[in-house]
Amino acid sequence: MPVKTARPIRSDRYPAKELCSRCGLCDTSYVQYVKEACAFITQRIEELEASAHGRSRQLDSDRELYFGVHSHMTAARKLEPIEGAQWTGIVSSIAIAMLEHNWVEGVVCVQNTEEDRFQPKPVIARTAEEVLAARVNKPTLSPNLSILDLVRESGMKRLLAIGVGCQIQALRAVQAELGLEKLYVLGTPCVDNVTRAGLQKFLETTSRSPETVVHYEFMQDFRVHFKHEDGSTETVPFFGLKTNQLKDVFAPSCMSCFDYVNSLADLVVGYMGAPFGWQWMVVRNDTGREMFDLVAEQLEFQPVMSKGDRKSAVQQSIPAYDKGVTLPMWAAQLMGVVIEKIGPKGLEYARFSIDSHFTRNYLYVKRNYPQKLEEHVPAYAKCIVSQYKLPDRALST
Ligand code: FAD
Ligand code: SF4
Ligand code: SF4
Repeated sequence: MPVKTARPIRSDRYPAKELCSRCGLCDTSYVQYVKEACAFITQRIEELEASAHGRSRQLDSDRELYFGVHSHMTAARKLEPIEGAQWTGIVSSIAIAMLEHNWVEGVVCVQNTEEDRFQPKPVIARTAEEVLAARVNKPTLSPNLSILDLVRESGMKRLLAIGVGCQIQALRAVQAELGLEKLYVLGTPCVDNVTRAGLQKFLETTSRSPETVVHYEFMQDFRVHFKHEDGSTETVPFFGLKTNQLKDVFAPSCMSCFDYVNSLADLVVGYMGAPFGWQWMVVRNDTGREMFDLVAEQLEFQPVMSKGDRKSAVQQSIPAYDKGVTLPMWAAQLMGVVIEKIGPKGLEYARFSIDSHFTRNYLYVKRNYPQKLEEHVPAYAKCIVSQYKLPDRALST
């Protein structure tokens, strides 16, 4: 059966306006639920955590405060990595195993268009080949939920959806309307996403050869790693990024996002809490545990660890982020080496990244959407941000 692809996007129907992350919901008949479902109109993470996982996160547990409701967390990697996957291909492997064991009839995932390797094309994959064709990040806003009408029309009853936080919030909000017997949700963390035009600007400002980049990731060694068509690797230290030029490159949705760790997925697969080269898995509920167990024999594991102290690095980075300071490359390289040697590792690296992004995003919302601040920022994010001193300019806005 041919892969089902989404209908073309209409540009006049996004009630979140400039904050819209193009999650795809408003390209479907489910637009009727947008007021309650859109992550940027009504923030409902804590309430939806309770319905998805049976409880909200415990704010007095440091791990849950940062990483959300969970019963298990581990570092893992595939014994036989999938060639061309973003990391070792755990996400694709779970989707393939679920199809092959007939747990689901289809998988919502994102392939790319024929013309452009980074242009997302959401599909409902029904075979291993179709899932594999969706491997590797399309590092741009992707309208994954634009296939929801196709899901209903296909009559399928058991579905796996792969997606990032804003997509999953909207999906959870309309889950009961989809007519499914079982929905499995496999999430990835997500931060600093961009439009396709923004991605081009990022590549052109940061890589030596933007047109040959096939893959990139902001890694735990405080460097961006680019992989090029010829197999070569290029690394650029975070501190050397041209932040003055990149300040406006991230989408307003992503500058206002507080769901870095995909709080509403059953199972999350990322890298941020794992040692360099390993993936990070967070099991949030019993459904997530079943998905985890299904592929466990394809993986090797090591316990998560935490080393270092992020707090002063985060505090110092707040004004730098805020002013868009860019270091000369030699200083950036040096700083990268020092931070890699003595800086936060494992879960402490993940907390560093969450703290840096939440403080930046809090300031962004406070300055640009002060009327939304109170409702839009979840309690756990307020708690995290309150550990830091923010610039007075923002506090007096
Ligand atoms: P693969 O087996 O290669 O599968 C990748 C899956 O991602 C595919 O199924 C595809 O459908 C899906 N996908 C691709 N592009 C998109 C998209 N734009 N939107 C939704 N789904 C998509 N992890 C972290 O720990 N920290 C981060 O800051 C972080 N940022 C991310 C930003 C984006 C935009 C995305 C898509 C992912 C991010 N991740 C992050 C997750 C991480 O990069 C890997 O995707 C994850 O570890 C899975 O790797 P894998 O090899 O198992 O995936
Ligand atoms: Fe609609 Fe999604 Fe945009 Fe919100 S983010 S306005 S739900 S398309
Ligand atoms: Fe969505 Fe947040 Fe990722 Fe932006 S950073 S695409 S808003 S999950």
